[in-house]
Amino acid sequence: MPIGGRKQPPTAVELEHATVTSPLSGREWELPGMWNRMFEQRVEWDFTTEGFEKIGSLEGGESLEWCYGCGKCVPVCPVDLVGEYGPRKIHRKVQTGLDLFTSDDLWLCTTCMNCLRVCPKEVDMVKVMPAVREVAVAEGQVPGELADVFEKTFRYGNALGENPRRRHAWTRDAGVDVRVLASDPRPVDVLFYVEDYWSYHPRGMQAARSFARVATALGVDFAILGPEEKTIGDSQRLAGEKGLFEALMEDVVATLDRYEFQRIVTPDPHGFNALVKEYPKRGHRYDVLHYTQLLAPLVDRIEWRKELDCTVTFHDPCYLGRHNGEYDAPRTLLRAIPGVRLVEMGRCRENGYCCGGGGGGMWLDGLTANHTSERLSERRVREAVESGADVLAVCCPYEVSRFEDGAKSTGNDQLQVRDIIELVDEAMGGGGG
Ligand code: SF4
Ligand code: SF4
Repeated sequence: MPIGGRKQPPTAVELEHATVTSPLSGREWELPGMWNRMFEQRVEWDFTTEGFEKIGSLEGGESLEWCYGCGKCVPVCPVDLVGEYGPRKIHRKVQTGLDLFTSDDLWLCTTCMNCLRVCPKEVDMVKVMPAVREVAVAEGQVPGELADVFEKTFRYGNALGENPRRRHAWTRDAGVDVRVLASDPRPVDVLFYVEDYWSYHPRGMQAARSFARVATALGVDFAILGPEEKTIGDSQRLAGEKGLFEALMEDVVATLDRYEFQRIVTPDPHGFNALVKEYPKRGHRYDVLHYTQLLAPLVDRIEWRKELDCTVTFHDPCYLGRHNGEYDAPRTLLRAIPGVRLVEMGRCRENGYCCGGGGGGMWLDGLTANHTSERLSERRVREAVESGADVLAVCCPYEVSRFEDGAKSTGNDQLQVRDIIELVDEAMGGGGG
């Protein structure tokens, strides 16, 4: 009520407990203090705008301050499931003084995009985090394990620091001829962009050999760049090394310009993502397919020779599924394999759980371990086991090693981790990796 002609603010009364009586039933209810606090005015002047001003001034950083705290992002954030994370929590921390540029929180986001999927305000951590990381990288504030990968990528053109001349060493034991364009530059239908982990990681090399056998059996005209191939480096970009990514893009495009091909096919959803979304921004347009998209329409032509008899669950790679909308091609292949019973995990398709490898997470296990109760990959392995599967099928080169480690460390060695192409190859009578 106005007193003396001036409106008075209500007096905030906060009780730790209050008893209210229902006017209908006369029943009494005990309310804890949190119900009373809504009558207290928020202390807005405790908040600082400094952090948001700094982040919001970056290209891509604008949306963090749009958060209005609805909390929808937190339960879908894979990192929050094993720790304390999510855009709402990051927003609140920045609001109350966190310097995100120097905080470990900057490196925990895997850019999986599950928060953006549900956020009414379109707070886009897939842009915010790389923008802030780019500044941190320029200022030398990079976790050592990640700096090491940047250095290897810069020097050798691959994240593993392997000799570029050994890029096509995997072809030797493939059992089929794999054409290398440098030595046989005739036009080709499919330029198979192998990427780092299928080129160099022992389990990836097995999958690459499987792909070569399957593609050959299906009459796909394909060839590789071999020693001329460099990583596309999308995860390095998302981890903050945009300059390195752009330098790699120049090299990749210059190499691709030397050859005539119809389509690029890659097993790597991260490379796929950059070719589809980042390269066109610089005017480089290609017809790009993930390998499952190349093979899914060809399943009717496959001659199966073996029944596998296993229960399989499939882990959607964030950068094939949520980022690029492909959920069906991998499942089409799995369903076509004789003897495969496909079961889904609770978190699948649009709400698929992240393996922890995206956005540079592949190389940040040490840092992440300090902030999480278990690895994301370990969590996912337990979900796969709970689904009743014998086999966890994947189609991203990061995942085989992550999940195999997770299966061991969680005591689930009985769970096999196989790339879909290995299962297809085995059922076609090949080595299966
Ligand atoms: S869903 Fe969006 S608006 Fe809601 S709390 Fe999360 S970031 Fe903020
Ligand atoms: S992108 Fe994924 S990991 Fe990052 S904050 Fe959003 S839900 Fe969490």
